[in-house]
Amino acid sequence: MTLQMNLLIAGVAVLCFAALVFVPWDEETITPKIVNTPVEKIVSDIDEPIISNFEQCIAAGNPAMESHPRQCRTSDGEHFVEDISIQSSGVFLESMKYTKNAPIIDEKKGYFVDEIADGIYWLVASGYQVMFLTTGEGVIVIDAPQPIGEKYLQAIQEVTDEPITHMIYSHSHADHTGAAGQIFPSNIEYIAHQDTADILVSENDPNRPIPTITFDDTYTLSVGNQVLELSYIGAFHSEGDMIILAPKQKVVMAVDLFHPDAAPYRAFGVTVNLDTHIEAHDTLVNDFDFDVLISGHEQILGTKNHIKIDKEFVLSMMDITTQAIGMVSSDEVIQRCVDDTMEQWQGKLNDLEKYMVEHCTAMKEYVLSQ
Ligand SMILES: [Zn+2]
Repeated sequence: MTLQMNLLIAGVAVLCFAALVFVPWDEETITPKIVNTPVEKIVSDIDEPIISNFEQCIAAGNPAMESHPRQCRTSDGEHFVEDISIQSSGVFLESMKYTKNAPIIDEKKGYFVDEIADGIYWLVASGYQVMFLTTGEGVIVIDAPQPIGEKYLQAIQEVTDEPITHMIYSHSHADHTGAAGQIFPSNIEYIAHQDTADILVSENDPNRPIPTITFDDTYTLSVGNQVLELSYIGAFHSEGDMIILAPKQKVVMAVDLFHPDAAPYRAFGVTVNLDTHIEAHDTLVNDFDFDVLISGHEQILGTKNHIKIDKEFVLSMMDITTQAIGMVSSDEVIQRCVDDTMEQWQGKLNDLEKYMVEHCTAMKEYVLSQ
């Protein structure tokens, strides 16, 4: 052995000893080195990922074929169809901001329209809000508020070339539906609850075409790639009110039940039945799966929390009125109700004062009738 070789061995030995002494043996330093190397090697050893469904086929970089449901074919000819029964996309994350803040309405156009979930467009204009859906086979419109009028067509044409094939009446009131006869084709399907159809037949208004499809309890409307579940949960606002749910996108429309972030329209939304009105809040919260609710008014999207707050508001006024009836003379009940409700809800709801006397008058009548 040469001197150089001896020196080399001694040098290596010193370095090894130094490494043992100075390299800390805590797990954080060592573990990643030990674990990473073999995992990286295993991953690089697998040439083809295992593909056993449509999602994995797409994730592996294969194209989706334009069909419904969509289909995907792998490079070696295997073929997968998208399972749309388990697909639940919900509302686009960026659209959830509209549950708190109103969108900016372009002054020139006079309306705001945006796709808030797959094929569901939210239209806000003139103090009203509606939704319409593209289906691949035509547009389903819901309502036709008189104040929005022609702007409804402009908004639809801004986002799609599909023709309008179906119109749904949320209820019979002309302010929400009275532009239909002027702006929508006469030869499309008009869908309503039976009670709404009866009202429209008796009122015989050319601006609100007679429904061609009616139902009593539930109706499933399937057009192209869209499904809407229509249901009747009672006359919470007027005879023939309908709940319209897009189950895949978790969007629901229930018109004139409440105003998100605001006090109700006069006398609790001029409800025909306060008990049914209150129950409808619970039914929507407990029995319907949705992220946002299109309420017909205001400029924000509603949520289950907004519904709970509205119910709390109605119940608190019931308490206040009941107490007032036991404490002050009949003439003073309404003023006491106004004062106490204003004190309790000040700063919590918009337009609080606007219809307060009418709310208290309606609530006094309700409590005395019980
Ligand atoms: Zn109404």
